[in-house]
Amino acid sequence: MEADIVKIPLFDLTRQYKELRNEMIKKIDEAISSGVVIMGQNVEEIEERIANYIGVKHAIAVGNGSDALVLALQSMGIEKGDRVITTPYTFFSTASAITRLGGIPIFIDVGEDFNIDVGLVEKKIKSDKSIKAVIPVHLFGKSVDMEYLKSICDKYGVKILEDAAQSIGSEAFVGGKRVKTASIGDAGILSFFPTKNLGAYGDAGMVLTNSDEIADRVRILRVHGSHQKYVHEEIGYNSRMDEIQAAILNVKFSHLDMWIDKRINAASNYSKLLGGDTVLCPAVPKDRTHVFHQYVVRTERREELREYLTNEGIGTAIYYPIPLHLQKCFSFLNYKPGDFPVAEKLSKESLAIPMFPEITFEEQEYVAKKIKEFMEERS
Ligand SMILES: *Cc1c(COP(=O)(O)O)cnc(C)c1O
Repeated sequence: MEADIVKIPLFDLTRQYKELRNEMIKKIDEAISSGVVIMGQNVEEIEERIANYIGVKHAIAVGNGSDALVLALQSMGIEKGDRVITTPYTFFSTASAITRLGGIPIFIDVGEDFNIDVGLVEKKIKSDKSIKAVIPVHLFGKSVDMEYLKSICDKYGVKILEDAAQSIGSEAFVGGKRVKTASIGDAGILSFFPTKNLGAYGDAGMVLTNSDEIADRVRILRVHGSHQKYVHEEIGYNSRMDEIQAAILNVKFSHLDMWIDKRINAASNYSKLLGGDTVLCPAVPKDRTHVFHQYVVRTERREELREYLTNEGIGTAIYYPIPLHLQKCFSFLNYKPGDFPVAEKLSKESLAIPMFPEITFEEQEYVAKKIKEFMEERS
């Protein structure tokens, strides 16, 4: 008999579904049976629950996180030719949202912790008075130093749109209290892509804001720019959340905080198991939260380690192999290799290892053992 082949995926949706299946099917059936399948009761319910959870006045459900970025930026007044700062080390749509509106992404390098370097942002804002907005990304679930960033932006009248697609539930310390990411800027966005910490079983996203004006504009932009059917005030989009996705999110939402705790616990297990000088583990800041959407380690021998783990049945991923300033589609921005050395180095060294709330300690032990084995064999 062959030995059992261990398989530990990077991410696993099926374990969670087994637990939630009965409730899920009931809720989805109710949603379809109601006869209203787009923007009905479930959408209203998830908007209200998330607004309360994040601590903002308005939550507006939209089709996906990428659209949420576009609708939020547009509602904040970003238009053709406007210069918007963001990080080159993020998912593609953070930057494409700017160009979809005809704006110009101004990339600023990240720090060693993967998040935008707020000190460099300050320098840029001071020297370039044409900057309209900044999109900080709480990458992998780790909050950006929003206290610092907000103080600079407030001082220079620069708007903030938080990309919290990976950081639902993560907190930052601002103005003497802990507040949730996506509640700190002029607006924030969430993605409910299936693999995100709160994921639907299809595409869905949300815009969060305390501004009545921004909220009202996002609400009309998601339905072709109209308050009233067939009366169009501006040219909008079709970007709505459907009832099936909203029903799924309503079922899952009750478990979110528990899942986040499990991720944080799993991350601390990894850091202990891997400890010492194997690979560089993510650090957790004292005054901010990291909700570990991904657990990303660093090593100069990333490609070899990845291959080794793949052969041992362990799923990994590279977030992100090509920083955005080097993407072909952004070549018109005229950036070149060497412009953002930290982002470029991280893109060569980072490796995400299996992370999801249901991962077991035994699985983590196996992953850590294989990483150590690799490091010892090859050193
Ligand atoms: C997932 C993600 C998005 C986009 O969300 P979609 O729902 O997939 O469109 C935007 N920004 C970041 C940082 C993301 O991780």
